[in-house]
Amino acid sequence: MQSLLTPEQIALWQQLLPLDEGREEGKQQRIVITCHKGPDGDAIGSATALASWLRRLGKEATVVAPTIFPDFLKWIPGADQVLVYDKHEAEVQPVVEAADLIIMADHGELSRMAALGDVVAASTAPRIMIDHHLDPQQGIAQLVISHPELSSTCELVLRLIIELGQYEALTHDEAVSLYTGMMTDTGAFTYASSRPEIYQLISLLLAKGIDKDKIYRNVFFTYSPDRLRLMGYLLYVKLELDRKRHAAIMTFTNAERRRFRTLNGDTEGFVNLPLQILGMKLSIFLREDTERPLVRVSLRSVDDFPCNEMAAEFFGGGGHKNAAGGEVWGTMDQAVKRAKEAINKYAPLLRA
Ligand code: 5GP
Ligand code: MN
Repeated sequence: MQSLLTPEQIALWQQLLPLDEGREEGKQQRIVITCHKGPDGDAIGSATALASWLRRLGKEATVVAPTIFPDFLKWIPGADQVLVYDKHEAEVQPVVEAADLIIMADHGELSRMAALGDVVAASTAPRIMIDHHLDPQQGIAQLVISHPELSSTCELVLRLIIELGQYEALTHDEAVSLYTGMMTDTGAFTYASSRPEIYQLISLLLAKGIDKDKIYRNVFFTYSPDRLRLMGYLLYVKLELDRKRHAAIMTFTNAERRRFRTLNGDTEGFVNLPLQILGMKLSIFLREDTERPLVRVSLRSVDDFPCNEMAAEFFGGGGHKNAAGGEVWGTMDQAVKRAKEAINKYAPLLRA
């Protein structure tokens, strides 16, 4: 497998995060690992695996998430120790302020950490970015390990662990965390997952004794009856298809959220469903925010349609080619209008 780190990066890593240092009690390096707001399987998986690995090496490592994460990720080993900034600001801020080193996992911009980004920006601790998103923000980390060609940050972390000679000691639980993020960021290996190395890496994780079928069930077979009924309702009543442009728009309001007793994370994955329709190229899922007067936008596509460009141009966001997101400040009607404008603008790419 091609190495991801240059010799300069390895030297810088050793300087910022020496792996072979003594472990004198009370003098350990204090590391805070951050992830993006609305953490997904890759964010929690990569951050918990990094934390566990670094703790084994005698570091003090704490994962800090900007906001809560869905219940279907709570079983991930180490997820119970993740500190959530926006829920416990007063307790978490000092932890970030005391860090000797901050590792930004699965995000390449300070703004992806919401309010936690300000606390991180105010810290003088050096930063390492480990991420696979396009266009990392310049100048925010001393060591930038950015690999947008990889499926997931978990894949990136695993490859770093291998390159740094740390695979032998990788634990079963760390392998579970890493597999989870690789699986969730590829829709259970149905997209962004055709490079042969991915299966070599999966094999290396299986060798640690992980039960990949159980991990799949833990993440994807956790529906409540309400979620399943909501899915049926949205598909039957709310799905709007533009057959000429091979695009779909599905909306979800706060009134529906109450009616179906929707829990945090319950709408996860709904945006992918319309892509199951033959020939569909783009799916847009719009959901009203529960706190602010805005609509969250999720975009998914197949083949070469650039969701990230549409997200940047129309929804003030970004992301990957086949999965991106953003928001529209305003009502659902305004968001639908904006989505239709976006589809019109990109019609030449969608019609073909
Ligand atoms: P989701 O639709 O699951 O919320 O987001 C899919 C992907 O789009 C995320 O992994 C992330 O890369 C990107 N994304 C979502 N929302 C935003 C946003 O507001 N800004 C940027 N830059 N990227 C986003
Ligand atoms: Mn990711």
